[in-house]
Amino acid sequence: MRKPLIAGNWKMNTNLDEAANLVRTMAADLDKISDVEKVLCPPFVSLAAVKELIKSTSIELGAQNMYFEAKGAYTGEISPLMLVGLCDFVILGHSERRQYFAEIDEIINKKVKAALESELKPILCVGESLKENESGITEKVITRQIQSALVGVNPHSQIVVAYEPIWAIGTGRAATGKQANATISLIRTTVAKIWNKETAQAMRILYGGSVTAGNVAEFITEPEIDGALVGGASLKASEFLSIVSQTATLKSIR
Ligand code: PEP
Repeated sequence: MRKPLIAGNWKMNTNLDEAANLVRTMAADLDKISDVEKVLCPPFVSLAAVKELIKSTSIELGAQNMYFEAKGAYTGEISPLMLVGLCDFVILGHSERRQYFAEIDEIINKKVKAALESELKPILCVGESLKENESGITEKVITRQIQSALVGVNPHSQIVVAYEPIWAIGTGRAATGKQANATISLIRTTVAKIWNKETAQAMRILYGGSVTAGNVAEFITEPEIDGALVGGASLKASEFLSIVSQTATLKSIR
């Protein structure tokens, strides 16, 4: 059985006070939900404060990005070694990183390997653009992204994949549960071909893209979808809580 996982990607939102307030508002209630892994991914500058606030809870911490080098003259970058002991997870290959910061597949592959070497669990994001979707090349794009991200990666690695169609991120236009389930099934088949069936079956694959408390059930009730990477809705405590608690209920009755 794959344990469901809900991760909140706060993106470039919240200052230190706002981040702390958001955590204080929901930490106790989130902590009580035990059947779902809950991961908060605040901005770098709030990681330490959030860690302190969740230290005696079951909530885990994730970074939104990192560089692949361990240290050196890379002004402005954050290395895996800086995240060790602070974070459990790190989001890698988010489409906003690919789009605005020119992160190509090779860079993402280096980041995945560097994270794993430091025992950080990558949440590897893949997804096609609207144009790619409309041209019917979703399968090709996703397969390429998965294959290149996993080059040289040990099959026993703890990796979570998030399927995030770019056209669904922050647009209010989510994929349907069926669409997301079909692409996630394709991702699982691709992983099975690269590694093996058992590893692919054990890997958690999330859906991300305009997930809200109002539509999460549509995704969570699909058999291949193991949770969600939530952007905008993770900035509202009641909304995020509802997403996590619906996930716990719906996955437990399946
Ligand atoms: C995301 O940032 O990964 C995301 C899915 O955003 P949103 O939920 O706002 O679409």
